[in-house]
Amino acid sequence: MRVLIATNELQSTADGDYSFTVEGELVTPIVAQCHTPDDCGCSRGFPGLASSRATTTAMVVDRPFITLDDLRDVVRDSLERDGWLDLLGPDAAEIDEIIDEHVEAIDEICRTFTVGTIVERHGTLVRSRSYRTAA
Ligand SMILES: [Zn+2]
Repeated sequence: MRVLIATNELQSTADGDYSFTVEGELVTPIVAQCHTPDDCGCSRGFPGLASSRATTTAMVVDRPFITLDDLRDVVRDSLERDGWLDLLGPDAAEIDEIIDEHVEAIDEICRTFTVGTIVERHGTLVRSRSYRTAA
């Protein structure tokens, strides 16, 4: 299936770029932003589902060996590791709803952009980033 991964491609081509993720790890566009998201940069980051760090550049890739259940498991593990499931409590339906939100957002981005597209995030807006060219 198509998923989003952390990439260092096109890093440093935008002001305030950062990448603390592991190259190639799965990322999500869903973030719990702080009260000063533009200052700290969390409004632009894609959290890594393995490292719990973030990057401002992600890439749409096709990973046929990753199933929807795999992606859901990875999102769940990330939420659990970062303490979000403790905050939610034992309501399985609520947890599934949050996992759905992550998976649906990843899917929407991956259906919007072609494989290989590098994307950046500004709040809830995700757009493609490209190499600058000159004639
Ligand atoms: Zn923040």
